[in-house]
Order: sequence, then C-alpha cells, then structure tokens
Amino acid sequence: MEFGFSEEQKMMRQMVRSFAEKAVKPRAAEMDETDEFPKEIFKQAGDLGLLAVNFPEEYGGAGADSVSSVLASIELGRVSATVANICSSIKHHLFCMYHYGTKEQKETYMPAMARGEIIGSFALTESGAGSDATGIKTQARLDEDSYVLNGSKTFITLGPLADFTIVFAVTDASKKSKGISAFIVEKGTPGFRVGKKEKKMGQRGNPVSELLFTDCRIPKSNMLGAEGQGIKIALHSLDSGRIEVAGLAIGLIQAALEDSVAYAESRVQFGQKISQFQLIQAFIAQMAADLDAASLLTYRAAYLKDSGKPFTRESSIAKWFATEAAMKHTTNAIQIHGGYGYCKDYAVERYFRDAKLTQIYEGTNQIQQIVIAREVLKGGLQWS
Ligand SMILES: Cc1cc2nc3c(=O)[nH]c(=O)nc-3n(C[C@H](O)[C@H](O)[C@H](O)COP(=O)(O)OP(=O)(O)OC[C@H]3O[C@@H](n4cnc5c(N)ncnc54)[C@H](O)[C@@H]3O)c2cc1C
Repeated sequence: MEFGFSEEQKMMRQMVRSFAEKAVKPRAAEMDETDEFPKEIFKQAGDLGLLAVNFPEEYGGAGADSVSSVLASIELGRVSATVANICSSIKHHLFCMYHYGTKEQKETYMPAMARGEIIGSFALTESGAGSDATGIKTQARLDEDSYVLNGSKTFITLGPLADFTIVFAVTDASKKSKGISAFIVEKGTPGFRVGKKEKKMGQRGNPVSELLFTDCRIPKSNMLGAEGQGIKIALHSLDSGRIEVAGLAIGLIQAALEDSVAYAESRVQFGQKISQFQLIQAFIAQMAADLDAASLLTYRAAYLKDSGKPFTRESSIAKWFATEAAMKHTTNAIQIHGGYGYCKDYAVERYFRDAKLTQIYEGTNQIQQIVIAREVLKGGLQWS
C-alpha cells in the first residue's frame, strides 16, 4: 500500500490552492452575502480545467484522475463551498453525459460545458419524491418522433442559469423503477420554464430552483442513455458525485481547523491563550483526527473509481463520514470562537451554514446509511 500523491496530483492541488487563495477566497464572503452567481470565477475555473478535472481531453476535460478531482474539491471547499459545489455540479452533469451520451451528445455538450461556456443541471428531485427517487411523477409520453414532458422538479442546482437540463421522467409506469428515462431539455424549449428560486441557508451564490414542464415537446433523440435507464444513470452519477461532496466537506473541516487554531492562538482569557486550555485542545484534536479519517476514506473511494472497481459503498461511507464531521467541526469552530464565531465577521459562521447542506444533497446521510448497509449485507465487507 502506498500513501502519497503522484506528481500530477500534487501539481493539481498546488494549482487549485493558488487559484482558490488568490481569486476565490477574497470573494467568498461577498458571494454569500449577495447570493449572486460568481460569473468571473466560473469562467476562470473553466479556463483552468476545474469544471472537468477528471474527464478526457478529447471532450474538453483536464485528463486527470478522480483523486486529483477530489483534491481540487478540497482546495475549493476550503475557501468557498459555493464554488466547490458549482464545479462539482458541472462534473456531475459531465459524468452523465460521458457515460450515457451518444457520440453526438458528448460532442455537442461536453467541451462547451468543460470550458464553462454552457451550464447544465440535473433534475431528478420532485416535491413528492426526494429520497425516494423512484417515486417521481414527471411523465414523458412518446408521440411519434417526440417525447412530451409534463411535471415539475424541485431544488435543482444551477436550474435558473442552465442552458440545458438532464430531466428524469416516467416513460412506462408499469415498469416502476425500470420505467424511468433521462432526457436532455434545452433552455428555450416551449413548455419548459424555471419556477421559484429558493432562498438558501448556505452555499449561497449557487442558485437552486424549480423547473416546470408543460406539454414540453423534445425530439426523441434527446433521450440520454436507453429507455428505462434513468434510475441507473441517476444512481451511478450520484455514487460519483458523493465523492465530490465528501471532498468539499473535507475542505470545510480544514478551514474550520485552520481558523480555530489561529483564533485559539490569539484569544486570551484567564491570562493565557485559549489554545492552552485542554478542552479547546480536545476540539482541535478531534478536528485533526476526523480531517485525516475523512480524507483517507475519500481518497480510497476516488482511487477505487479510478481503478474501475465498484465504489458505491466506499463513496457513501466517505460522503456520510466527511459531511457529518464537517457539521460537527464547523459547529465546534464556532464554539472555539465564542460569541464572535456566531457573527458574520468570522468565516466560521459561513462554514457552519455551508456544511449543513452537505448532509442533505446527493442523498441524505440517512440514505447513505441505507446504501452502506445494503452493500454490506450483500457481502461487501472487503474492498480491494
Ligand atoms: C440546495 C439543494 C440542492 C439540491 N440540488 C439538487 C439537484 O441539483 N438535483 C436534484 O435532483 N436534487 C437536488 N436536491 C434535492 C436533494 O437531493 C433532496 O433534497 C434530498 O435527496 C432529500 O430529499 P427531500 O428533501 O425530499 O427529503 P425527504 O426525502 O422527504 O427526507 C426527509 C427526511 O426523511 C429522511 N428519510 C427519507 N427516507 C428515509 C428512509 N428510508 N429511512 C430513513 N430516513 C429517511 C431523510 O433522510 C430526511 O431526513 C437539492 C437539494 C438542496 C437542498
């Protein structure tokens, strides 16, 4: 077993650290305050290959591996969960397109998406179907050479900005989960419109909205993957997306730790630095240990993905562990900062709000436990 990054992986981490520190960190609080999408940063991220780190150059990607992609998510998450999530969301859409798109679909969407020239979205969740994705009601009815979509989606990341969306809809209700298919619907298609934009607690600046479909007619050729493959596409891409969410959460733990150490070393109470109090040291020690544990679990999941091995169980473990740790330690970072940590002058207040979302999206942490238990019960105790 080797512990260490390749030269390419180290270079990726260094490059993203530099971009994050210079271009993203100075804007992070403003993005949170204004809730405005960071257009310039998005463009720069596209130029640097950060929207498509682990996709082939042939389709506009940086041609790096998933471990490098996680390192990029950690570095971005350390300064701005918003920017980290925007980049991870684009990678999620690219993943669907790369694994299930036709050659023509890949050529049409992937290079432009990788460069940040067009934006996608992934529309699975509905008001009545969140954790139970197979319960979606949006329908796609075949009518000669078109599909006609009716229904609505909720909480769709980048929904208000997206040039196209990957929509999951029922094509044959009698086949239950095998009767759901995926479609590409472009902005401007009659019958497709953006609904209510949500006012979020955290990860602000990355817009989330409803998407509404009323007799929305799309060509048959806009199906992504085969008919009935929708849930497979969704679950496969979520397995991959969970590794990215874990990376973002690790970035938040690292930021919480760095800020906590700096504050504890500067704040004096009872005539000494609070870093000298053992109860404060306990917070720091727990942060450091969980940072390591979350990182190792997440690198393992990314490594398995790069090796072409199954990684469902490992990505769920990484996502669950890292995001629970992020919530715990961003909370404790506020505790270390005392009353100042509860106010916006200190970034830990933002980390705390940003961390909460990581326990919910890409499958709640209750759903991660269901996935892990299911994999273990079918004999997946070992990884290799
Ligand atoms: C900011 C944001 C961005 C999002 N982006 C997207 C996106 O881009 N695309 C998209 O399709 N979706 C997106 N989502 C939706 C997200 O994936 C869902 O919110 C999530 O899957 C949970 O669904 P729900 O909110 O309907 O909660 P529910 O499914 O209603 O869950 C409510 C509670 O019940 C628990 N629960 C549910 N089932 C079980 C069970 N079997 N056992 C134990 N507990 C259970 C859940 O863990 C949760 O605690 C986003 C959500 C948010 C908030």
